[in-house]
Amino acid sequence: MGLIEIAIKIIIALPLGIWLYHDSRARDFSWLIWTFAPFIILLSPLPAAIIMTVVLSAIYLIARPSGALLKCPHCNKKFHETLFICPFCQKNAKRECLNCHEPVLWEADQCPHCKSRNLTKE
Ligand SMILES: [Zn+2]
Ligand SMILES: [Zn+2]
Repeated sequence: MGLIEIAIKIIIALPLGIWLYHDSRARDFSWLIWTFAPFIILLSPLPAAIIMTVVLSAIYLIARPSGALLKCPHCNKKFHETLFICPFCQKNAKRECLNCHEPVLWEADQCPHCKSRNLTKE
């Protein structure tokens, strides 16, 4: 295994690992496993490593929880819309309506469910 082959594999695996870390953690989706999954690319011989990259990306895109990502008001990192607590800074990334107890977007000043303005402050 030559140095160029190792370099090519690192160039492929490193950005993939960084992307998988951010995206799977934002979606609260087994991020430890996904962050280190690109190691199989480093361990595979070159033609197989390219196929592994495509297959791994495809499996991840199919398996991950679908839905949009929102921006955390505290740390500015992205988090999945169904989450209440930011997976990065562990702070409340949404407000709670004190009337109907539904989660409400941080930017909102009114509950979209019951129109109450009685929301938690943090
Ligand atoms: Zn955060
Ligand atoms: Zn409400």
